[in-house]
Amino acid sequence: MNATATTPARTVLISGAGVAGPALAYWLRRHGFVPTVVERAPALREGGYAVDFRGEALDVLDRMGLLERIAEQDTEMGDALLVDGDGRAYATLPSVVFAGELEVLKGDLTRMLYEVTRDGVEYVFGDSVTGLTEDADGVEVTFERGAPRRFDLVVGADGLHSRTRALVFGPEERYVRHLGIHTAVFGLDNYLGLENTGRLYAAPGRAANVFTTRADSGARAAFHFASEGPLEREDRHDRARQQRLIAERFADDGWEIPRLLREMERAADFFFDANAQVEMETWSKGRVVLLGDAGYCAGPTSGRGTSQALIGAYVLAGELAEAGGDHVAAFAAYERELRGYVTEHQAMGREGAERFFGPAPTQEVLDAIAARAAGQARTAPVRLRDYGLRVARAARVA
Ligand SMILES: Cc1cc2nc3c(=O)[nH]c(=O)nc-3n(C[C@H](O)[C@H](O)[C@H](O)COP(=O)(O)OP(=O)(O)OC[C@H]3O[C@@H](n4cnc5c(N)ncnc54)[C@H](O)[C@@H]3O)c2cc1C
Repeated sequence: MNATATTPARTVLISGAGVAGPALAYWLRRHGFVPTVVERAPALREGGYAVDFRGEALDVLDRMGLLERIAEQDTEMGDALLVDGDGRAYATLPSVVFAGELEVLKGDLTRMLYEVTRDGVEYVFGDSVTGLTEDADGVEVTFERGAPRRFDLVVGADGLHSRTRALVFGPEERYVRHLGIHTAVFGLDNYLGLENTGRLYAAPGRAANVFTTRADSGARAAFHFASEGPLEREDRHDRARQQRLIAERFADDGWEIPRLLREMERAADFFFDANAQVEMETWSKGRVVLLGDAGYCAGPTSGRGTSQALIGAYVLAGELAEAGGDHVAAFAAYERELRGYVTEHQAMGREGAERFFGPAPTQEVLDAIAARAAGQARTAPVRLRDYGLRVARAARVA
């Protein structure tokens, strides 16, 4: 198909209002495109776990004029302590390892991205794409609830279990590589009286932690455990089965584990998923392109997923603008710009997962990881070009 012979793309459907989707909508609008965002959840997802930013992602937030507002929501996380089964601290985990240069609750980030885009972007909540049929000039899209619509381009920013990817590239099993760990995250009262810090307990093949943040008057806890493969399909949606599985894995553990298991059962919010990566030979097919976790998830153990989503959105919108809406040229350039950056983060995600299966880390090992994390924040190989925009870079937070 010769894209340059067709009308340049203007209307863009974005599936997913997590991090990548709203960020892309922001930049597309700045470049004169007309984005629509469809989100499966009935409303914005609040709360959630903490996510952090490193390196160039801070520049993207700055270029969006969001850095100061995000910095106001900084969790101000301090170092955390590793404890043994009797609750005795035996090492300190420096915050740079798990909280990056700036850390916020994911719900706060999503809300801020939504607020800066809602006036100029159509958001459709509580709906999902069910079919995509491409022809020479655009894509016919059908939805679970809404009437069919037509767009010039479609972007799958719908996360690890992307439906856009499944519809266009095939089943998830082909692209999602399980890292051998499952994670559950939930909220609870700060009954340990922690202030901007956390406690981590690690045993072979399993770990648990509790953290408090400035932005969160309660606390958040997580269980991580080794798992051989992805859970059966029915377990992916069955909270009671997931919690039984966790209770079995941690049945013999000390420290606060028995209490945390009880807290988990009564938690109002409960997130559970595999730690996984998405590996694809190409991120686009025709007029459909993938962004963020949907196309190149690096896994929670990389600590880089949010940064990738933000930078991916910036580069994809910029390349579309630079190519004058020629999606073939733009998608190729987007991939060229980001491949190396993503490959590096995926290697980090795998290394992080391997550490999980090793012995409990000593202080020496933790310090070495911290030194590396601080260094890597400045060496990610991605260029942020201006793409013809006069971008305001207000205040880089120290
Ligand atoms: C436990 C955990 C801890 C993490 N910690 C960190 C961290 O410290 N630092 C970091 O950088 N990253 C972290 N990450 C990774 C980070 O959360 C992701 O990489 C990031 O959110 C990716 O953004 P995204 O927009 O691509 O996907 P998501 O944030 O997953 O957003 C996808 C959106 O699409 C929606 N959606 C799904 N299916 C459909 C559909 N069919 N139709 C419409 N909408 C749909 C979802 O509801 C969601 O809103 C962590 C992840 C996990 C699981």
